[in-house]
Parts: sequence; C-alpha cells; structure tokens
Amino acid sequence: MTMFKPGDPGYDRHRLGWNRTFESHPALIAVAATTGDVRAAVRTARDHDLPLAVQATGHGLVAPVDGVLLLKTTALNDVEIDPARRVARVGPGAVWADVNRAAARYGLAGLAGRCSTVGVTGYTLGGGQSWLSRTFGFAADSMISAEVVTAGGVALTASPREHPDLFWALRGGGGNFGVVTSLEFQLYPVARVWSGMSLYPLERAFDVLAAYRQWASTEPEAMNTAVLLPQVDGRRVLAIRAFHHGDDGARALAPLLEVAGPPLLDAFAMRAFPEASAATNGPDVPPVPNRQEIELFRTLPDEVLHAIVEAGAGDSPLAFVELRHWGGAMAAGDGPAGHRDVPFSVMAVAPFPTPTEVTLDRLVRRIRPYATGGSFLTLLTDPSRTRSAFTTANYERLTEVKRSWDPANFFRTGHNIPPAPIRKATS
Ligand SMILES: Cc1cc2nc3c(=O)[nH]c(=O)nc-3n(C[C@H](O)[C@H](O)[C@H](O)COP(=O)(O)OP(=O)(O)OC[C@H]3O[C@@H](n4cnc5c(N)ncnc54)[C@H](O)[C@@H]3O)c2cc1C
Repeated sequence: MTMFKPGDPGYDRHRLGWNRTFESHPALIAVAATTGDVRAAVRTARDHDLPLAVQATGHGLVAPVDGVLLLKTTALNDVEIDPARRVARVGPGAVWADVNRAAARYGLAGLAGRCSTVGVTGYTLGGGQSWLSRTFGFAADSMISAEVVTAGGVALTASPREHPDLFWALRGGGGNFGVVTSLEFQLYPVARVWSGMSLYPLERAFDVLAAYRQWASTEPEAMNTAVLLPQVDGRRVLAIRAFHHGDDGARALAPLLEVAGPPLLDAFAMRAFPEASAATNGPDVPPVPNRQEIELFRTLPDEVLHAIVEAGAGDSPLAFVELRHWGGAMAAGDGPAGHRDVPFSVMAVAPFPTPTEVTLDRLVRRIRPYATGGSFLTLLTDPSRTRSAFTTANYERLTEVKRSWDPANFFRTGHNIPPAPIRKATS
C-alpha cells in the first residue's frame, strides 16, 4: 500500500475523482495494491480517528472528501468469469468496460450502466440501473455474495446464508456498511442487442414525449428505452434511446417511431453487447464537473412534458434532459434498491456550473410538484436527499443494519445512512 499526505508528490494526482465539481483534501490517501491493504487502511484510519472514504473512480462523488482517509481501490481490478455458472467475480477497482469485455467472450453480459468507465462495485452497491434493468432487474438484485472488510476491520463474506442482514443492505444501501473487496454477481446470456440512439428534429419533441407516455404501458420487458433532448455535435435535438434483448426491437418500437417521423439519424442496429452501450449513450465522458437531478413520477401531466421540452430546447446548456420508463423485472427484487413500482424518471445532467445550474433549478422547480419525491441512489448527486432513494420501511431497516455493523458511522462520506439510535432498555 502506498500512503500520501498533503504535500507529498502524488497526493494531488490521487485526491481527485471523475466528478470534478469537488476539490477534495483528504487527510491521508491510501492506494491499495492488494486486498490486505484494504484491511490495513481500515486499521490506519481507526488509529488516526479518521472516517474512511472509498473511491474506485470518483464517478459517485457527491461531496468533497475532506479530512478523511481516502482509500483508492482502482488498481484492484481483477475480473474472473465462470461461464458454467454464468457468474462474474470482480475486484473493487473493476469498471464495467473490464466486465463487458471479459463476459462477452462467453456470450454473457452483466447489468452494466450507461458508461463503461463507471466502477462495478460503487454502481452495484447503489442499486445500479442498467439498459437491461427492465429485462433482468437492478444490478444489486443480481449480487450473489460480497467479501467485505467491516468498520471493525474484520474480513467476512456476506451472502444469503452468511450475515444475511448485511447482504440485504449491500444490495442498494451504498457504501455505508463496509469496504467490499470482491463482488460475485450473476451474468445473463446476452451476446447481441438491438440498440442505439436515433435523432429527430426538436419540433416533434412534445408529441413524441406524449406518445412515449402512452406507449410505455405496452413496452415489452425485453425493451429498455428513453426519450431525451441532448446536445449532439453542438445542436439541440430530440433522441430516442432503445436497448432490446431480442431481434424484433424495431417492431416493438414501431408505434413510437411512427410519431417521431423521419429521423435525422437512424442509428438502431443489432450490436455486440460491449458496443451497444456506447452506441446508445454516446462516447464515455472524460472527468468533468457534474451535477444531475432526478425526479420519479407515477403520472406525467402535460406540464412536466412542457418543462422537459423547455429545459432541453433552444440554447439550453444542459448535456441532456431525459424521460425514462422503468418497471418490468425491476419490480421483482427484495433488496433496498430503488422505488420498484415507479414507472418514470426525469433526469437532467449539467456538466458545467452556472449558467447551467439556473436552467437545472428552473426545471426542478417546475416538475417537482408532480413528482413522487423519490429518487434512485446512483443517479442522485444531492446528498441532502439520500433518504429519498429508499422507501420509508427500507430506510429504517438500513439504519438498523448500520447500527449493527457501523454504530460509530465510520463510513459516513457521500450518501450517508446514519445508524439508528441505540434503544434504551426499559425496566
Ligand atoms: C457518466 C456517468 C454515467 C452513469 N451511468 C449510470 C447508469 O447508467 N446507471 C446507474 O445506476 N448509475 C450510473 N451512474 C452513477 C454511478 O453508478 C454512481 O456514481 C456510482 O456510485 C459510481 O461508482 P464508482 O465506483 O464508479 O464511483 P466512486 O466515486 O469510486 O464510488 C462511489 C461510492 O460507491 C461506494 N463504493 C465504491 N467502491 C466501494 C467499495 N469497494 N466498498 C464500499 N463502498 C464502495 C462509496 O460509497 C463511494 O463513495 C453514472 C455516473 C456517471 C458519472
């Protein structure tokens, strides 16, 4: 393990994460080279009475990690595929590009996110919404087991049979319960998908959003979609993203495509899974300042659709505003991830500070009165809303598990779930 303190050469290189909104200044940085280093870092943090923050890539930075021991797991990026069991086992530094490549050799895929440079562990612990989530559920629900170093420095396995309360909490409760040193999860037989992002003139935006609202109730589970207003090559456009596990995607999407009319760019095609994600999302974004807002909706009044069009059109500075339909297999799991029964989200991404923030704030003010108040943890960059990522019952249960495994809130950076208060014994 290599340690850095402020002023050391290398300290500045390691203290920044992908999200450059924050200029973190940790008290110590530990760069792990082995799993044993993770236990050593936990011990060191305790010896110095410092909270511990874990970082694989820094895509999930939601606040600066100042005055902590920052544990970097980036180098622990082993990926093993067991094709017979259709299982992947990964180190805590593995990113989705590593898994996508390795699994594709066997015609398999994990429930990867839209960006292949995102870390598998941080994504999965937060729930993980994939382009295959309507088909196979949250990534967290595909977790089989996790090797964990606890706040007390003990290394153990969490699985349905071993420490099931901890295993439950890891499947969506984020990095609050221990440092994961290895994750085992299910893969699916997905070699090729009908996928991509087709572009349309902005003038049809409202009609297509309204048609999407209707069509979504008929969307097959094999299909995963979003309608968005992105900026592409400096131009604001309307786009439809689709990801279909099967070969009749065009037929399933036909009613929506009819309303969208002739495309500016028709990019839907059958693709190998590792290429499909990039074709659907666009190229991976290099480190930038990033703020995003997400709101969930049971119903979508016209006012919400008008607000999306206004925020994404004209000279909008947002990277994109996206309406996405969820549901399908996401309803099935029993972990704490997400709001399983909510059909729609509106997400807006702001890669730069002002004036982007003005547009983002205006959009949020307009749509929030119609939203459920919920969110998805991985897609939330506001740590004051962490609680909104869970149902009330799941949040309370998470605070109880936290009290069992981390009563002093040693893991408290980022989206923190504090421990439930210790109950006083009644006489
Ligand atoms: C461009 C981009 C695209 C994205 N696309 C999607 C998407 O399609 N779907 C989706 O669901 N999310 C998506 N996300 C969100 C992403 O899943 C979260 O930001 C996630 O937390 C990133 O994990 P990471 O390991 O890369 O980030 P990091 O910042 O390294 O880690 C984030 C948090 O995860 C926890 N953590 C990480 N490693 C460990 C560990 N070994 N043990 C314990 N806790 C750990 C810690 O709490 C840490 O603060 C995207 C984010 C970005 C920036």
